[in-house]
This record gives sequence, structure tokens and C-alpha cells, in this order.
Amino acid sequence: MSIVSSINTVREILSDGRYAFGFFRVVDLAYRKLVSLMLLGAACFVSAEDDSPIIDKQHAVIMQYHHVSSSTPHSTSISTELFTQHMEWLENNGFEVVSLATLVDTLKSGGKFDSDKVVAITFDDNYRSICDIAWPILRDKKFPFTVFVNTARVSETSTYLCSWDDLRDIYQSGLMIVGNHSVNHPHMLDFDGFESSTRWRERIINEVVDAQATIDREMGKQPRFFAYPYGEYNEMVEGIIRQLGYIGFGQQSGGVGPGSNFAALPRFPLSGSYSNPETMAVKMMSLALPVDDVGSTPNPIFYSSSNNPPQLAIHFSQKFDHPLNCFLGTTGQPIKIKRTEYSLVTQNTAAFNVGRGRYNCTAPSGIEGRYYWYSHQWQVKSGSVDEYLRQQWFDFSHSLRH
Ligand SMILES: [Zn+2]
Repeated sequence: MSIVSSINTVREILSDGRYAFGFFRVVDLAYRKLVSLMLLGAACFVSAEDDSPIIDKQHAVIMQYHHVSSSTPHSTSISTELFTQHMEWLENNGFEVVSLATLVDTLKSGGKFDSDKVVAITFDDNYRSICDIAWPILRDKKFPFTVFVNTARVSETSTYLCSWDDLRDIYQSGLMIVGNHSVNHPHMLDFDGFESSTRWRERIINEVVDAQATIDREMGKQPRFFAYPYGEYNEMVEGIIRQLGYIGFGQQSGGVGPGSNFAALPRFPLSGSYSNPETMAVKMMSLALPVDDVGSTPNPIFYSSSNNPPQLAIHFSQKFDHPLNCFLGTTGQPIKIKRTEYSLVTQNTAAFNVGRGRYNCTAPSGIEGRYYWYSHQWQVKSGSVDEYLRQQWFDFSHSLRH
């Protein structure tokens, strides 16, 4: 990959694919210079072959797709041609494609992979094209994969989803896991009308537990893997997932390692504007930042609260002196950091808007094309923390009366 294409690739990825041309032109020029220096530094470093750093085999990347089709919505689709290219790229570049169970078990137990380039493939929403188009391609290559299913929509007559029969047929191959994507695919953080937080909690638990009961009944017992609908989670939802004994999967970017948060593991979305094979290459090569402790502003944060913009504090599990930079997930604008060889603290100057907000932090590894990658996500709610506390107090006092 050339230096120029690397710069474009890194910039596109750091901005979560939503880089605004024109408005950030000045930032862009400064950033290009910065990235050039980073890459030049990396190139110099690897030129002395004997000093090349060795990547330990405790890194992996999780890929996320939806439709494999040209006739479905662009943002959640990848064409058959591009999907085939992605799979061929993995094969031609020496990737080990492992099942999600192998990935999770290996990293959680502190084990090592056979390769330093490891990916797992996942699909959300159980769309028809996964069974009709993606499956034959994956079968030919013997690539394992996981399909996250929201169970309420699956029926034997649906024309746009795989049926349980379709899934059972594929399951015979031993290449597929069926994961949990809730019953109804709700925005899990939203309260339903005026429901209490106790009722909300019950409803969310049912979304997970009932979906799993259906999946296990239809498929036989599957691993406890839960993909958050829309990639939305916060501390409360993560807590439920952890308490129920599930591994959680989001849609934020980054490598997975032993220190990752197993209640919200990152996955790289690869549909729509993210499906470009050139930008995909750097994502698949990304490494997990060696993190052993993360302190962050409570999640959710409130638009009007003093916790917005949020602060992120990371403690590294080992001495980490690679040049590290953090960027806003929405625009790719750099954020100031304070760091030592063992820690990082970063906080944007402007408040996050309502919705999802992220900080992306990256560092060149010293090996060309391979970056440490960490993304932290918050959910920003409208209203104020006062209203939230009032709601909690209402629930508490209500519970005393019953
Ligand atoms: Zn979904």
C-alpha cells in the first residue's frame, strides 16, 4: 500500500467513514502532515529488519455484515462482487478465519492463536442474502461465521429472511453459529412510554432470554453471544448482558485482545461506505490496544450534564510507548491527549450531541499497515441528569410501596 493511500485510508477510518470534505480542510492538511510523519516513522522503523517488532498472537478482528446484495439499502449492504473480494483478500493475505467461539475462548482464557492475523465473520439480522449468496462463498472457502438473529421476525414464509430450516441446513456444515440479536430488535436504551426502570430492565432481560430460548429450541444449544441492535449499549445494558452470562458485541471499531471489554466487543462494520476493499485492509490488520483498565465518564451521559464532553482514561497492561493519537468518531478531528508510557487520558473540548458518540485512539505498531486501534462509545441522552435521578427516585419509592 502506498503512503498516500495509507493516509486516505487511515483518515477515512478514523472519521468512521463520515469525513466532511471542505469544512475540515485546514485540519485535513495538518493531519495529512501528521500521518505522513507517523507513517514515515513507521517505515523507517521497519526498514531495519532485525529490529522489526513481533506481533504477539493475541489480536483479532471481528467483521460485521448485513445484506450481501445490490438491491437492498446501500448503508447495510455489500455487493456480491465486493463480498467475494473481501473473502479472497483474507485468503490471499494469510488470514486465519476462526469461529466467534474460538476467538472469544482463546482471548478470554489468555491463550494465543496460530496466526498474528485472525478474523471472525459475523452477519446481523439474518437476511435472505446471507443464506442464498454469502453462504455458498463461505462454504467454498470453509470460513466459519456467525449469524445474529432477531427471533420475532423469522418465519417459514418470510421472503426476505432465512428460515429456521435454511439455518438448520447450513448448521449441518459445522461452520455456523447462530447468535442472539434480541426478539424484537429494539433500541434497548429507550424507555417504552412511561415504563419504570424496573419494568424496562425486565423487558430488556426478556428480549435476550426469550430470543435465546427460541434459538436453542430451533438450532440446539448455541453459545451465549449477544449483538446489540443498532450497536447501542450503555453501562446498564452491558451490566444485564454480563449478569446473564453473555458475551456482548457492538459496532464500534477496534481490535480485540485479552484486555477487551467482553460485554461490548468491537466489530468493524463493512457494509455501504465501509465496504471499500482498500480501507478494509487496514481495519483487518488492526491490533488491540493493550488495555487493562478503562475509566470513563458514566454512560449514558446527558446532553446538558457536566460530564459532556466525556473523559476517557486508559491504563495499559504493559509499557506502551508507540505514538498514540485520539480522534472524534464523528468527524475524525484530533483530540488532545495526556499520556505516559502506562496511561492515557483524553477529552474533547466540545460537548457530544444527542445519540452515539465515540473516541477512536490509534497508534502505529512499527509494522507497516498495522495500527493499534481502540474505540470507546457513549450514548448521549437528551434531558438532564436531574430528570434521570428523579426517575430513579420515583422507581425506588414506588418499589417501597409494593
Ligand atoms: Zn440488527
